[in-house]
Amino acid sequence: MLSIQNEKSHALIVYVYDEIEKEATGEAGCWWLYESLKKLESSLKTKFKLDLIVVEGSAQESLSSLIKKYKINRVVWNRLYSKNSINRDSKIKQNLKENGIEVETFNAHLLNEPWEVQNNSGQYFKVFTPYWRKAFEVFKAKKYQITPINLIKPLPHKEKNKWNFLPSKKWYQKFSNYWDPGEADALTKLKNYLSNNIDNYKEGRDRPDLDQTSKLSPHLRFGEISPRMIVNHVMKYKKLNTSTITFLSEIGWREFSYSLLYYSKDLSSKPINEKFNKFPWRKNEKDFKRWKHGETGIPLIDAAMKQIYEMGWMHNRLRMVVGSFLVKNLLLNWTYGERYFQQTLLDYDEASNAAGWQWIAGCGADAAPYFRVFNPVLQSERFDPQANFILKYLPKLSEFKKPNLIFQPYLDENLLKILIKKNHYHQPIVDLKDSRNRALEAYQMIKS
Ligand SMILES: Cc1cc2nc3c(=O)[nH]c(=O)nc-3n(C[C@H](O)[C@H](O)[C@H](O)COP(=O)(O)OP(=O)(O)OC[C@H]3O[C@@H](n4cnc5c(N)ncnc54)[C@H](O)[C@@H]3O)c2cc1C
Repeated sequence: MLSIQNEKSHALIVYVYDEIEKEATGEAGCWWLYESLKKLESSLKTKFKLDLIVVEGSAQESLSSLIKKYKINRVVWNRLYSKNSINRDSKIKQNLKENGIEVETFNAHLLNEPWEVQNNSGQYFKVFTPYWRKAFEVFKAKKYQITPINLIKPLPHKEKNKWNFLPSKKWYQKFSNYWDPGEADALTKLKNYLSNNIDNYKEGRDRPDLDQTSKLSPHLRFGEISPRMIVNHVMKYKKLNTSTITFLSEIGWREFSYSLLYYSKDLSSKPINEKFNKFPWRKNEKDFKRWKHGETGIPLIDAAMKQIYEMGWMHNRLRMVVGSFLVKNLLLNWTYGERYFQQTLLDYDEASNAAGWQWIAGCGADAAPYFRVFNPVLQSERFDPQANFILKYLPKLSEFKKPNLIFQPYLDENLLKILIKKNHYHQPIVDLKDSRNRALEAYQMIKS
């Protein structure tokens, strides 16, 4: 998103959808992007009489053409941090400057720029706790000046918007049952969350059967709310207690992920711990498909995979459990999971997603050790004790009556056979204990 201005401070507000944005948005995210831009277009129009121009194609070419056509002499935008965006934006900046156009860029997406938070040796942090201690201090010392948007005057133009980025397969239609993209909902959600839920965050955040997290992630991803606004609201309106401190530290994990994205070579495809380049991953398309479709025969995994497909979002605890199952029990490369989440999450974010997958695979910075294999049955007992979450997405399993059997239907072989016959459920694709041992053996091969 850019604002481009002529000598008289008349401006065009422009969004350019190019190949890099497409990759950074993913398929589900395109629905959010579309809805979000439509809302922005309408609020700019009604509140400020400003138009939003949506352009598809090369950012460099689109900008050059607008600049020429409307005699633009100043361009401003908010910075992005992936390698591809940085390369693109630096080239554009250089090109504009060479052509005498003034350029100014800002930070709206993060609390701090990655280069503002370094350790005493001037290096980036690879461990979260000292990172966040420092990052929070750096943030609190800042002062902001906000330029009100109503100072911008509209520049008359004849551009026609291109809105062709919705996926051809209409699986996104159901998302509107769960989400309301746009700044207004983001702000309402934040306020309601602070009034009603945040004080239960410490205990409730791990329970997918309870609605205890903020669900702000897609709003943050699309810049409808900033992490600064969230942190400032928490500090202004709430007392710091274990729940609010934990909530703030999760915003810290987002920042930490951006620091890793900025400093690592290729966070979404290359393990930070290079030993993992030699990890003996299996290749098994069939198992991967059953994981994606929620047909592994392990109910917590299957319910979680149904959740992501249904609502374009998955609870954090479940992202860890399905991730561990994919990379450890199925021994499939973490990048398969990373790519699948890229397509299916509305909050897909190159930094948090890649850092999350590297964390769960044990190859990232400050990652869960590889030998920590989540047991989905124990996770169900702890975090979905009445099986309410599982039954929401797999209602046929209610035939097993007791939570203990719903968590592991293979313990009642006869009933499971009946359900399989009716195509209502599946045989487990792996034995949890054997596949755990297989993962630990595989890890021995790269350990030393
Ligand atoms: C394998 C894996 C993949 C993930 N992929 C993404 C992704 O693509 N996009 C994304 O935004 N988050 C991702 N996360 C982090 C986390 O799962 C989501 O941010 C969280 O579930 C979003 O729900 P919420 O807004 O209700 O979170 P809340 O619990 O309410 O947290 C508030 C905010 O803090 C941030 N946050 C919370 N937990 C984390 C975390 N572990 N890492 C980074 N930021 C965090 C998010 O911005 C979130 O909106 C991933 C985690 C894992 C383990």
